[in-house]
Formats: sequence, structure tokens, C-alpha cells
Amino acid sequence: MSDLLRAHTAAHDPDCIFCKIVAKQIPSGIVYEDEEIFAFHDIHPWAPVHFLLIPKMHIPSMAQVGPDQAGLLGRMMALAPKLALEQGCNPYPEGGYRMLTNTGREGGQEVQHLHFHVMGGPRPWLRG
Ligand code: 5GP
Repeated sequence: MSDLLRAHTAAHDPDCIFCKIVAKQIPSGIVYEDEEIFAFHDIHPWAPVHFLLIPKMHIPSMAQVGPDQAGLLGRMMALAPKLALEQGCNPYPEGGYRMLTNTGREGGQEVQHLHFHVMGGPRPWLRG
């Protein structure tokens, strides 16, 4: 683990709203859970299907990610299409989904726990 990541990550940050969701201290619509990954419905969906895919570990953003997290991020990317279909996205290529992550204030990140938005369903969406 890099020094930068070690300085910013913890198994659980008691002040982080997404850590509280992972710990089920705050209820959420759970989409998926395993030992290291959690997914839940966004509370303010932008699309007919909109869930957040997060590491359980408290990593603030993509800015703290390095080569040590490649496996974890790869497993998250590989999980997304399966979860998207299960949540009602239509199959590729007519269907599909959009996956995005905001990083930092100028990147539009509001919650400081790494998360990928997974959005899909019939267009148009509120924020195209
Ligand atoms: P960001 O702007 O950081 O990329 O996105 C944060 C997302 O988290 C937003 O889409 C927002 O609706 C969602 N969100 C914030 N607080 C909660 C919460 O308490 N529960 C759920 N399910 N989603 C949340």
C-alpha cells in the first residue's frame, strides 16, 4: 500500500456516511454485498436504474488509489454489468449502462468515500 493511500484510508471511518451504510447503521437499498464490495441504490436517482458501487474499505476517492488497489477495482468493474442487468438495465448493445466516478470538489464529488455511479434504463434521463 502506498504512503498516500495509507494516510487516507481506514477499514471504517466513523464520520463517513457510506461507511455507516456499509455497517448498516444507516439503512439503504442493498444491491450487492461481499467481503470487500458493497452496492446500494442512490437516494436521489438520476436514471431509472441508479446504484452506487463502493469498496467497503474507506478510500476517499480515486485520487488515493494506486497499483495495490488494481485487483479490487477490477473486481468492481467486472461486477458492474452483472448487477446492472439484475437491477433492470437492458442488455448491451441496445441497453447498457453508464458508470462514472466524481473525484474531488472540482470533479463534483460530494461524498468522500470512493463510489462508482452505475446508471441505466430507458432514456432520456434527468441528467443526460
Ligand atoms: P457524488 O456527488 O459524491 O459523486 O455522489 C454522491 C451520491 O451519493 C449522490 O448521488 C447522492 O444522491 C448519494 N447519497 C448521498 N447520501 C446518501 C445516502 O445517505 N444514502 C444513499 N443511498 N445515497 C446517498
